[in-house]
Amino acid sequence: MMEKLKILLIEDDDDHAEIISFHLGKVIRFSIEVERVHSLDSGKEKLRENNFDVAIADLTYPGIPPAETLSKLESWLDEFNTPIIILTSFEDYQIGLNAIKSGIDDFLSKSKMDPELFEKAITYAIERKKNSILLKESRDIAIKATQTKSEFLAIMSHEIRTPLNGIIGALNLLKETGGLSSEHQEFLEIINFSSDSLLGILNDILDFSKIEAGKMSVEEIPFSLENLIQNINCIFMPIAENEKGLKFISPIPDSKQNFKGDYGKIRQILINLINNALKFTKEGHVCLKTEIIDQGEDVKLSFSVEDTGVGISPEKLSKIFESFTQGDSSTTRNFGGTGLGLAISKQLTKMMDGDLSVESVFGKGSTFTAVVTVKKSTEEILRVSKSNNIYFTGDVLIVEDNPVNKKIAVKILERFKIKVDTAENGQIALDKCAQQKYDLIFMDIMMPVMDGLTATEKLKATGMQTPIVAMTANAYEEDKQKCKDAGMDGYLSKPIVKQDLINVLNFYLDRK
Ligand code: ADP
Repeated sequence: MMEKLKILLIEDDDDHAEIISFHLGKVIRFSIEVERVHSLDSGKEKLRENNFDVAIADLTYPGIPPAETLSKLESWLDEFNTPIIILTSFEDYQIGLNAIKSGIDDFLSKSKMDPELFEKAITYAIERKKNSILLKESRDIAIKATQTKSEFLAIMSHEIRTPLNGIIGALNLLKETGGLSSEHQEFLEIINFSSDSLLGILNDILDFSKIEAGKMSVEEIPFSLENLIQNINCIFMPIAENEKGLKFISPIPDSKQNFKGDYGKIRQILINLINNALKFTKEGHVCLKTEIIDQGEDVKLSFSVEDTGVGISPEKLSKIFESFTQGDSSTTRNFGGTGLGLAISKQLTKMMDGDLSVESVFGKGSTFTAVVTVKKSTEEILRVSKSNNIYFTGDVLIVEDNPVNKKIAVKILERFKIKVDTAENGQIALDKCAQQKYDLIFMDIMMPVMDGLTATEKLKATGMQTPIVAMTANAYEEDKQKCKDAGMDGYLSKPIVKQDLINVLNFYLDRK
């Protein structure tokens, strides 16, 4: 028994349609029923109404360039699973090949038609379609699996960050308490080191999964290069020079120009590169060189981190930006790390229209260069201040339901001599704000009775001018956006980084 096939023929020319039908009628392997339409639009309607085994479509229609017809047909590929064969009017193999590359199942030249060629084209097209459907299904499953994995990782690292916030906060407070024996202080240092490492690993996993799930976006924040490099030098100068006995050279760029870009991500890349440089250098120097490459409205910032450390072997160098790559298997044992830092940094530079590259001589040292694109800005910059012995005046309300987090936030703010009041949920915050005027409100997001976003909307709707800063462990960019949309003025992610907190206080409160 011959296999029956239903074929849709899309052909405007009656003579051509007749010849094609004639050939199709002579195909040996199949018994073919042909339904013909005159235009692509009616062809599309027909495909929606009926199941066809194959569609054969002419590429040339009066007044329409073949390329336009082809791109229309290509747009059908997502909607229909029917194999499509196109007919080119002359021997234009290039058009046919391009069509196949973009997913059309086969092509035939009208100048060379016979039943055998049709039989072959139909058979191939049907098989190709089956394969491409299978491939698409497998690809969809793989994408879904990666997304699920990334979401799981993101949720898990987020969940672990919340209690870690409690540990790190309490630890910092404990460290500042006097009267600890040297043995106790030593234990505290161990907990400190371990919780910092844990936070670093969690942040890497969170970032990596956010990038994989396509949930990482670039922010535009006004910043000054001077502040950025000063901040980096404050972090690394003592570690390099006092702890590691290395020379740390990082000149502050001589430019008063402010920029707009993702300050946090640029800082994260520099921290990663300098941490690595310090990790893999025993003697000599680590040098951060900053360059501004003016391009009119946009500016490229280039940061080179040069070290005189162990260097990287040529084989390793080619894979250095892949995920989970480390110099050799002993690296984790000796130096720790997840092997994700460079992969993340590279992705981050790409998101900022730049790149991360490396040059290295094994045994002599390495230079990593991160380039990112930012805009010039004239906006006001959050003032950055050094942290010791500064005090603020003002009444601050902390809205937070978790008793540990609340206690830690209160204690930290009290260290700055700030008057602190608390509310356990959004509703209590509303009640308190109706009674009293605060200078600044720190708002958690997820709380019982009334969440932080609703409370912010309601407070702002009363015309209240008090700035509200989110204080939350929700680390996704979209969460930040939700905070902005609700009317929040700022955002601090937990675990709270002391310097970030000081920056916020500095911005909104007066100094004592
Ligand atoms: P990790 O978190 O493990 O440090 P990275 O992605 O930051 O992961 O680095 C991957 C590997 O690249 C490191 O384990 C190390 O072998 C190598 N590497 C990175 N920076 C340097 C450097 N400055 N000098 C020598 N090797 C380096």
